[in-house]
Amino acid sequence: MQPLIELENVVKSFGEHRAVDNVSLSIRKGEKVVIIGPSGSGKSTLLRTINCLEPMDSGTMRFAGKPAGYVQRGSELVPDKPRNICALRTRIGMVFQQFNLFPHMSVEQNVMEGPVTVLGESKANARATAMDMLGKVGMAEFADRYPASLSGGQKQRVAIARALAMKPDLMLFDEPTSALDPELVGEVFDAIKQLAVDGMTMVIVTHNMGFAREVADTVIFMENGSFLAKGSPGDFFQRQCEDPRVQSFIDKIF
Ligand code: ADP
Ligand code: MG
Repeated sequence: MQPLIELENVVKSFGEHRAVDNVSLSIRKGEKVVIIGPSGSGKSTLLRTINCLEPMDSGTMRFAGKPAGYVQRGSELVPDKPRNICALRTRIGMVFQQFNLFPHMSVEQNVMEGPVTVLGESKANARATAMDMLGKVGMAEFADRYPASLSGGQKQRVAIARALAMKPDLMLFDEPTSALDPELVGEVFDAIKQLAVDGMTMVIVTHNMGFAREVADTVIFMENGSFLAKGSPGDFFQRQCEDPRVQSFIDKIF
């Protein structure tokens, strides 16, 4: 089966520093990839590159079999037309550590905004989708509330519903529970697990090993911009002992 997304030899530097160093990754439809690794190892930069928030320096990316974000012109890699990049980005949902909800809009308006302004959906349609997605994350009864009156876990679930309302093919989660009090982490992971059960393709940066074990098809350990270890959770948690750097990291986060 054709992968949903394929990265080949992707490099992204900031000045002299290679934040993403020659990364290749292929994700099939429905696959759940968990990325772990120390702070500064390039996890966020990798997600931002996949979502075309950061232009890559070299390498290629393909989405559903087509070149994505960049096109080869002669020997040069040049950014694709903004219109094509926007079209690609509507197919990739991203959820950040900070929820970034629009504070002046109700929960329902937050979730309707993308479909109305970006996809040109009618308000009636967008409202129906919004309520559906809020239902999926257990937030339907909060539709008329404003972000300021919600807990962090509730805000993050609204942020997930907002991303889902765009009906993405791929969801990227960048440490979605790191800003939350420990007692609110479970409700957010439960919402993400439900998406996993529904078959969503996703890449999740998290240090929650329980979640990785339970949900991941593939676990990747990233360090200094590269993948140091990659495998199924079973393989990963057994074999990691062979690599002292992976082991020492896992020991620290448990
Ligand atoms: P992680 O998410 O694994 O903590 P990041 O992808 O945020 O790592 O960062 C990887 C490296 O790239 C770090 O050394 C960081 O300082 C650097 N970096 C990230 N974003 C920028 C930026 N916008 N400008 C300069 N350096 C950056
Ligand atoms: Mg990060």
